[in-house]
Amino acid sequence: MRSGDTAPDIEVIANGILNGDRALLARAITLVESTRRDHQESARALLQRLMPHTGKAHRIGVTGVPGVGKSTTIDQFGRNLISDGHRIAVLAVDPTSKRTGGSILGDKTRMTHLASDPNGFVRPSPTSGTLGGVTRKTRETLLLVEAAGYDIIIVETVGVGQSEVAVADMVDFFLVLLLPGGGDELQGIKKGIVEIADMIAINKADGDKVRLAERSAADYRNALALLTPTSPNWQPPVVTISGRDNVGLDVLWSKIDAHNQRLTATGELQQRRSLQSVRWMKDMLTERLMERITGDGAVADVMADAEQRVQCGELAPSVAVDAILAAVDGTSV
Ligand code: GDP
Repeated sequence: MRSGDTAPDIEVIANGILNGDRALLARAITLVESTRRDHQESARALLQRLMPHTGKAHRIGVTGVPGVGKSTTIDQFGRNLISDGHRIAVLAVDPTSKRTGGSILGDKTRMTHLASDPNGFVRPSPTSGTLGGVTRKTRETLLLVEAAGYDIIIVETVGVGQSEVAVADMVDFFLVLLLPGGGDELQGIKKGIVEIADMIAINKADGDKVRLAERSAADYRNALALLTPTSPNWQPPVVTISGRDNVGLDVLWSKIDAHNQRLTATGELQQRRSLQSVRWMKDMLTERLMERITGDGAVADVMADAEQRVQCGELAPSVAVDAILAAVDGTSV
């Protein structure tokens, strides 16, 4: 993009996205993911321009430990939905992914059918160091793919750390995939993940694992009955599926669809999205303020000094914050 000439480009990119141009969609995502200040400004202008065309997709989060079968299941699930006339985009949030060696999640080679289908779009996780950075980029990419007309968006994440909470906060429905049995029953409950789940699916319910999967499902149903549901209008179901063999994915979809209809009818979906947007705004504000602090040489020096003195117990954290804020005021960052 030529500097000083971003406005016409924004219009071209926006129209391309609205007309389903995949190359321009990919270019827009690159802008969103770029750390360059001018790119970020263009990305913001583009998002603002596309805002009226966003919000129409059904947003679904999927989590599970590596090996649970996320990519196999999403690939098959996506194909089923495409044959029903949907257009599917798969995004990923994996803060551990590095530019070298590619991303663990959303890798094109992991969802070969979806990635090669004209009605499918698979995007690996952005590779920024912080969860906050990765989350922002994925949220913005989600809006871009919505504007491009994908009506079902799946955001995939790994079953570790805080990334589940971040993904649950950008979707309408959060699906937790678990393995049958395995000796460590109810591990999801211990980790607190099922407390944000709108549904649990026990995957790999095939071959000699069918009965074990059914037993696990019964255990989770009992355990979930004791938890407060995420919504007053929805009791999270527990189902068994085989992503590999395409078994139970129709039931999976009918429940996701039922959830959507119920929460739409009660107004809860709209409320959930509004709250998500406001939290997103506040998160972004915090992130941008921190960027300004760390990006200003003089303030960054005060901050580094304060951090070191807090670390060795010489300075109370509250006094350190006063010092940093004084430096911010003094230099009008
Ligand atoms: P991910 O790391 O969660 O994305 O898991 P993958 O989709 O890459 O699957 C991990 C392994 O489990 C692969 O060898 C798959 O073939 C296998 N797998 C995935 N889904 C199923 C399933 O439903 N049944 C069985 N038996 N194996 C599966």
